[in-house]
Amino acid sequence: MSYKRLLSHLTISHLPGLGDALAKKFNHLGIYTIRDLLLHLPMRYEDRSTSKQIAQLSIGEHTTIEGQIIKTELIQAKRRMLICTVKDETGIIQLRFMNFYPTMKQSMAMGKWIKAYGEVKASKTYYEMIHPQIQIREAAQSFDDSQSERYTPIYATTFGLTQTMLRKFIHLALALLNRNPSAELIPAAFIKALPSVEESLTIVHQPPLDVDITQLELAEHPAKKRLIFEELLAYHLSMQITKSHNQSQQATPCVVTNDYIKPFLQALPFSPTNAQQRVVQEIWQDMAKHIPMMRLVQGDVGSGKTLVAALAALGALENQKQVVLMAPTEILAEQHAINFSHWFEPLGLSVNLLSGKLTAKKKRECYEAVAAGQTDILIGTHAVFVEQVKFAHLGLVIIDEQHRFGVDQRLTLWEKGIKDNIHPHQLIMTATPIPRTLAMTVYADLDVSTIDELPPGRTPITTVVLPNTRRYEVIERIEQACLSGKQVYWVCTLVEESDILAAQAAEVAYEELQALLPTVHVGLIHGKMKPSQKQAVMQNFKQGLIQLLVATTVIEVGVDVPNASLMVIENAERLGLSQLHQLRGRVGRGSEASHCVLMYQTPLSKVTKARLNVMRDSNDGFVIAQKDLEIRGGGEILGTRQVGIADFKVVDLMRDQHLIRLIQSVSIDMLANHPASVISLVNSWLPAKTKYINA
Ligand code: ADP
Ligand code: MG
Repeated sequence: MSYKRLLSHLTISHLPGLGDALAKKFNHLGIYTIRDLLLHLPMRYEDRSTSKQIAQLSIGEHTTIEGQIIKTELIQAKRRMLICTVKDETGIIQLRFMNFYPTMKQSMAMGKWIKAYGEVKASKTYYEMIHPQIQIREAAQSFDDSQSERYTPIYATTFGLTQTMLRKFIHLALALLNRNPSAELIPAAFIKALPSVEESLTIVHQPPLDVDITQLELAEHPAKKRLIFEELLAYHLSMQITKSHNQSQQATPCVVTNDYIKPFLQALPFSPTNAQQRVVQEIWQDMAKHIPMMRLVQGDVGSGKTLVAALAALGALENQKQVVLMAPTEILAEQHAINFSHWFEPLGLSVNLLSGKLTAKKKRECYEAVAAGQTDILIGTHAVFVEQVKFAHLGLVIIDEQHRFGVDQRLTLWEKGIKDNIHPHQLIMTATPIPRTLAMTVYADLDVSTIDELPPGRTPITTVVLPNTRRYEVIERIEQACLSGKQVYWVCTLVEESDILAAQAAEVAYEELQALLPTVHVGLIHGKMKPSQKQAVMQNFKQGLIQLLVATTVIEVGVDVPNASLMVIENAERLGLSQLHQLRGRVGRGSEASHCVLMYQTPLSKVTKARLNVMRDSNDGFVIAQKDLEIRGGGEILGTRQVGIADFKVVDLMRDQHLIRLIQSVSIDMLANHPASVISLVNSWLPAKTKYINA
């Protein structure tokens, strides 16, 4: 009955014409059930009916232009490209194709008319569109604009799955849904005049001709509001359920004895800050209980979370329990392994690194040591998840930079440690700053501690924002910095999230900088290198053998080289503010005054300039997050999912945070008065959470 809501029990194979091969492609997008398909909402809508004049274009918009081809040429740059130059009465635009058929050049001959739809970008001389969708005609005025639907939804997709196919199956799913509507779950007083879930999904996937599309995109349309409300409510309810589930579990109390902690603190070259001490006390108090700790430590980059983790670990180790520390990248795991070995081995504790790239034999040795209880603390990336890792007596799970992991991964690791129904304690650390109201929702199942103080002796980072036309001045400045004994990061960014392309871009910059700065020792690090190579490079950088390190954003999280005091970020406009803040946090770690140069590609839109200026004006992660929100307003479809906090389908926590208070009171009411609806709601929106409900 209620489980059938949103058809969450039916797999997509129930749709006519959707065979196994196609189903696999949908699976790639995380779509398994009809529910998943229905909640695969459009990223945006295209209104292809009206073209814009070239002079009226602005960078970043998706639009249609129409004009006459003045030239189409093949260019042999780093790779072959086809460039088609088009003019209308107001200006010129270039259409750039990287993948093309040989016949395309012919079909785009001079004098023909072309209509192109795509994102407007800036290039050296003209605006351009990369891989636009095109229609070519012999003469003007012959484009066919008769379309049955004015607004075409555009979905995120994967190789081999066209927009047309996606639309077709989503329409089939909608028809199925509308034949099987479900009862309203939310008390009428709370939803007021909002449409039903079925109506809302239909509007979002098949916008009627008269819909206000901007309202729909900005989530101000009642249909969107309804879905947002429900998803946020379901999420909040599931967190409440998870929390009470956790609190009903058993854990082994770990009481501090100071056997390890005392000598550790004595050997430490500095003393913990007040904030670190307070947070560690909160952790130890939790760990001394019979209920498993579920604590999140929030602290800006450089606030010293590693030390907090070490002290928490020692608390468990003093009770003869094992500890596992999971980091999001190999580089970070390796760095933690080095630090922890240095700190813990003198105490007679054994630290092991489980890297995904170890040889089979080394891995087996590691599994054996962990299973035999010889390993006291195991450090690794996702590799620590694998089935072969079995702990003898795991007492504490620590997850570093949790924004990189999903809630589900976190729970999986936690469950690994369950033995005879005894759960390990769990400590989660994050540098992703989020405003307080958001934290109440996102971390509703956790207790939160905040490290609100940086270690002493830091000088704030001075940030400047410069156009890339001043690149050579910046390079000269790097040379001077290196001559005076400083170390420098040069970070290359890319639009596409592709390791390979990012690596190529970094290689090009590396060669250029090496050529321009013959007196400087330049190093290179990127995600395509072998772990052993990366480790060697990081080691050389730490020891000062490399003065200038050219890197991709692989260095974003956690890397700690205090002597590095200058960072240059190329194409900084491509990154989100929280990512820039993380990156910049790699400098400003020593006593040396640090600088960060944010270089941008000209021309830059006003909003983007304003965002970069936020970075220039503040070093505080919480302030930056708040300002980012203000500048972006409610409009931009970039949200917490991108930040990686929670994986919502419709909700953007930044945008929708004003709903949180309301959701809290609805959730109290529903838990008390409508428990069956609660189960049904959570099941239809978050089926993965079902196990906690039934437990
Ligand atoms: P993050 O919170 O970003 O993970 P780290 O744990 O990497 O920060 O710490 C950043 C730097 O600060 C490291 O070099 C660390 O040794 C140093 N540090 C941490 N705590 C203190 C302290 N109490 N006093 C001085 N330096 C500290
Ligand atoms: Mg860290």
